[in-house]
Amino acid sequence: MEHDRLGYWIKEAGDVTSRPPLDKDRDADLLIVGGGYTGMWTAWHARRLAPDARIVLVESEPVCGRGPSGRNGGFVEGLWTTLASMQKRWGDAPALAVAHAADEAVARIGAFCAEPDVDAWFRPGGYLEVSTTPAHDGTGRAALEACRELGVSDKLRELDAAEVRSRCASPEFRGGVMEPGAATVQPARLALAIRARLIDQGVEVYESSPVRRFREAADGVEATTATGARVRAPRGVLAIGAAAKRGPLRGRLTVASSHIVITDPVPDVIEKLGWTGGEAITDGRSLVHYFRTTPDGRIAFGWGGGRIAMGTRLHGRSEVDPDVAAADHRHLLEYFPDLAGRRIVHAWGGPIDASPTHLPAVTTMPGSRAWVAAGYTGNGVGPTNMVGLTLASLALDRTDEPTRLAFVDPKIPRVPPEPFHWIGGEAIRMGIDRKEQAEMEGRRPGRIASTVARVPELIGFHIGR
Ligand SMILES: Cc1cc2nc3c(=O)[nH]c(=O)nc-3n(C[C@H](O)[C@H](O)[C@H](O)COP(=O)(O)OP(=O)(O)OC[C@H]3O[C@@H](n4cnc5c(N)ncnc54)[C@H](O)[C@@H]3O)c2cc1C
Repeated sequence: MEHDRLGYWIKEAGDVTSRPPLDKDRDADLLIVGGGYTGMWTAWHARRLAPDARIVLVESEPVCGRGPSGRNGGFVEGLWTTLASMQKRWGDAPALAVAHAADEAVARIGAFCAEPDVDAWFRPGGYLEVSTTPAHDGTGRAALEACRELGVSDKLRELDAAEVRSRCASPEFRGGVMEPGAATVQPARLALAIRARLIDQGVEVYESSPVRRFREAADGVEATTATGARVRAPRGVLAIGAAAKRGPLRGRLTVASSHIVITDPVPDVIEKLGWTGGEAITDGRSLVHYFRTTPDGRIAFGWGGGRIAMGTRLHGRSEVDPDVAAADHRHLLEYFPDLAGRRIVHAWGGPIDASPTHLPAVTTMPGSRAWVAAGYTGNGVGPTNMVGLTLASLALDRTDEPTRLAFVDPKIPRVPPEPFHWIGGEAIRMGIDRKEQAEMEGRRPGRIASTVARVPELIGFHIGR
């Protein structure tokens, strides 16, 4: 088995030639730092809204999309399963507006993937959130009720155990909910397709160009890369994912981690499970398991139970953690015993920019000339397109609907400073893991694990959907 930081999808998508690093000072109309989905969709929307604008995007890796954007599970979801939580936080109309905007983003990604030169394996098979233990029965019900109450009951459907198993016959699956509008993609192929489109459309993309300094300058913002070359622009967007914890979102983000294993082609097992509709599936745990099939008959199985990053360390075991990959493989076999003896070909991981609200946020930086976006909490593939539209609109001085959505400058609780944040985060992660493992095994969770697992809710942090 290969086990590295970049993972299977990036390898499968193949090599591309890097764009040269920023070699001399440049001026632009819009500066974007970070070439993950958020940064690239921002550039994509900005190009459509302002065809003549000079857009510069700088990325630290040798190729855009080598962070979480090229390594994730490839679930393309809206935000319907978080509707209840958004409703509670923002109220009916603002929650509904964001959920519709996220839905439109999924449709835009589908349309992008349908273009003739894009082959990102977009498959609209829907998304299932299923209970795998009596303790999780009723998972997704709050969102279902919110959908009914707000008049959008077609967005989520309740499924009983038989209906769930008719779509994927894991012996552990019970009832659940289905979001029919969701899809899967090959995430690295999607990232490379957006990158190629931006380059074709004249966006200046500089790779291997880590920004070391980002500041307000006369009439705008200025980014200085590792070589000392600078970009100046009247407006800037920081789309640096979990790295925002180092600077602009210090005290507003926790960086957790998630890991994926992927099998050899196992079409016989998929056939036996009846899992032929391309459904993306998660269980109802807080440390969520997520799994999907690929067009060549593999199963990719991820777990959001990786370690919390200490301080600003975003690499190391956030990306390559043999213990977490081994646990992920064990959990895969619990859900799919027919995979015993089948080969795992690749394991990898990546940081998760977890917001205390569990929702992405666009934050205006002091001076109002730059915005930073992060906090997707493991559901960014669809929402980054929505957030990119908002960022492009803000940066182009538009005052349209996307700039008024409730995730722009929302109230976000502060996380404690280090090292308390890391110590507390790890204790909570282990407490939740013990509690959920006991629930899976039909045991009563210990009192300490149950109490620790409740701490986030007690201090106003949202864990789970
Ligand atoms: C293992 C895993 C599985 C996941 N599964 C799913 C899933 O199935 N569905 C889903 O919706 N979401 C999933 N996610 C989350 C999803 O991948 C993210 O929400 C999304 O990719 C965020 O995109 P982004 O552009 O904001 O951040 P990133 O992808 O992190 O991009 C940020 C970019 O900024 C660059 N950068 C950082 N600092 C600098 C700097 N100083 N200078 C220049 N560039 C810089 C980075 O190199 C990176 O390319 C998963 C994440 C992981 C790790």
